[in-house]
Amino acid sequence: MRVHILGGGIIGLCTAYYLRKAGHDVVLIERNDITDGCSFGNMGYISPSHFVPLATPGIIRQGLKWMMSASSPFYIKPRLNMDLIRWGLAFRRKCNVKDMEKNGQELNTILQLSRSLMNDMKTELSLPFSMTEKGCWMLYKSEKTGDHEKHLAEQANRYGLKTISCNAAEVQARETDTAVDVAGGVLYLDDCHLNPGEWMKSLYHDLQQMGVKFWLHTSVTGFEKSGDKVTRIITDKSDMPVDELIIANGSWMGKTASQLGIRMLMQPGKGYSLVYKNLPHNLQYPSILVDDRTATTPIGSWLRIGGTMEMSGHSDNILPKRVMAVYNAFKKYYPDMNLPEPDTDKAWFGYRPVSPDGLPYIGRHHSFSNICFAGGHAMLGVSLAAATGLLVSEVISGTKSTVPLSAYDPARFS
Ligand SMILES: Cc1cc2nc3c(=O)[nH]c(=O)nc-3n(C[C@H](O)[C@H](O)[C@H](O)COP(=O)(O)OP(=O)(O)OC[C@H]3O[C@@H](n4cnc5c(N)ncnc54)[C@H](O)[C@@H]3O)c2cc1C
Repeated sequence: MRVHILGGGIIGLCTAYYLRKAGHDVVLIERNDITDGCSFGNMGYISPSHFVPLATPGIIRQGLKWMMSASSPFYIKPRLNMDLIRWGLAFRRKCNVKDMEKNGQELNTILQLSRSLMNDMKTELSLPFSMTEKGCWMLYKSEKTGDHEKHLAEQANRYGLKTISCNAAEVQARETDTAVDVAGGVLYLDDCHLNPGEWMKSLYHDLQQMGVKFWLHTSVTGFEKSGDKVTRIITDKSDMPVDELIIANGSWMGKTASQLGIRMLMQPGKGYSLVYKNLPHNLQYPSILVDDRTATTPIGSWLRIGGTMEMSGHSDNILPKRVMAVYNAFKKYYPDMNLPEPDTDKAWFGYRPVSPDGLPYIGRHHSFSNICFAGGHAMLGVSLAAATGLLVSEVISGTKSTVPLSAYDPARFS
């Protein structure tokens, strides 16, 4: 079976990996060259701790408050766009306790599957990618946030995750090289982190060795269909016949789906990150600075900080105040780190592929018998890539799915 994959982000590469291991002939098409994009500059968390979906009760009120501030961690550019309106209405319908709990359970299952697959991937790939298994902090400044985080930790424990709840002194005792200004924190021991760019490189290297063919600098521009099948992929270079097609093109998936006559709700959620190298002192642990929705990833003497969720379409415009908000949040929690102010124009940004209910789209769409979707992982693409790759390979091979796929049905909002 020859399988074409559209998209060379982390989801496309992991899907290629498991398909090839299952014995399929794999061709991956990517319009860039697998050196940049959302899967490169992210925080690199593999985080079972992130089982709470984006759509939660109260998030819309909080979002509206954030919209009033140019330096808040969330922004939607107000505009009359039908895709955004449909997405917003579906998101609003999911902001209730029942859906949050149901989707949280689904996420927990697939997050833990992915986390365990990473143990194998760490030893299987030939180039190292700095996977570090020591956990991740949820750090908070206010007792109110602390109560919420402790409640989430209890839920995490019921899901089988290990956590340690710490007061300010206990956080400081573990963070030995710099001052931490917090009220407390919860350490999630099952989380790990890696250098996402190194992981991408390592996968790309091994996939080539395994015989996966890459069509780089090639844009997919359309499709030919016959009955319930896609028969040819049209690209800006040439056309090619297709047996099976995996659509894994991240935040551009909604546009591609509409070329196939499928409505898929997907919005790009832009986030920024900044990198500091050769630091004399670094953090001991990665951390989410919960009150400010900012994240930190230390690896050796290298530190990345990142955050914000900007829904303004695929606009490459950088909003300096939001980049500075990431930097300023970091300073509030780690006052002695003395990182230089960033050149905001040079901040990295990527577009998270955001579905309305916080669950990815994985599996076949009922309109086509030879298409499979793999995307919409929002803030969890790195965490969920291995599981997604395995699950897609099971769909294509026609073997029993490791976890039921009904919750990830790509047609659930059609
Ligand atoms: C600041 C930030 C921090 C994050 N931190 C984390 C984290 O710590 N942990 C985590 O799990 N997730 C994190 N994420 C989310 C994660 O980065 C994404 O979920 C993930 O990268 C999405 O991967 P993808 O392969 O679906 O999409 P992408 O990486 O966007 O890949 C899609 C690819 O498809 C290609 N493509 C699109 N259209 C076409 C076409 N027509 N023809 C050819 N090629 C095409 C694109 O060029 C692109 O390379 C973060 C995101 C951001 C922005």
